[in-house]
Amino acid sequence: MKLIILGRDGVINPQPATHVDGPEHWEPLPGVLEAIARLHREGWRVVIVTHQPAVAHGALRMEALNRIHARMLDLIRHKGGDIEAIFICPHGSESRCRCRPPLPGLFEEIAERLKINLSGVAVAVAGAEELAAAQSAGSQPVRIGPSEVADGVAFASLPQFCDALIAGRVVLPG
Ligand SMILES: [Zn+2]
Repeated sequence: MKLIILGRDGVINPQPATHVDGPEHWEPLPGVLEAIARLHREGWRVVIVTHQPAVAHGALRMEALNRIHARMLDLIRHKGGDIEAIFICPHGSESRCRCRPPLPGLFEEIAERLKINLSGVAVAVAGAEELAAAQSAGSQPVRIGPSEVADGVAFASLPQFCDALIAGRVVLPG
C-alpha cells in the first residue's frame, strides 16, 4: 500500500507557538510542497492528520481551520501534489476523545475509512504524542525534525524523508 500519513505542525508547516490562526498566517516549511508533489507523482496516496485543541478552547474557529487547510491544499495542488484527506482532532484533553494523540483513534479512523491495514504505513510526524499514537495504531512512525536521541526512523525534514522513501532507502515493514 503506497499510503503515507503526514502530521501538519512541525512537518508541513513550522511548529507554531500556539496555533496557526488564519490562512494568511499559514506558510509551508521549505521544500515541503515540492516533496508532496514528488510523492504524488510516484503514486503515493497522502493523508494528513492534525490535532488542533485551539478549536475546543475557542481560540480557533472550525471555519478558520477549514480556510487554513483550503490554502494548504491550494498551494500543494499548485505544485502538482494532492492530498486525499485531512483527519482532524479538534478536541481538548477534557473531552477524553479517542482521536487525541497519544491515543490512536485518528489513525484507526483512517484505517476504517480507507479500508486499509496500517501495518507498514509510514506516519511522518513531529510530536512525541503523535509518534506514540502512530505506534499504537500499528503503523510505522517516522520522526520529522531535529532529534537529540537517534531512536527509530528519524529525518530532519519531510523533503529528506520523501527523497529517501522514493529512492527506496527507507524500508518499511509490512
Ligand atoms: Zn479528538
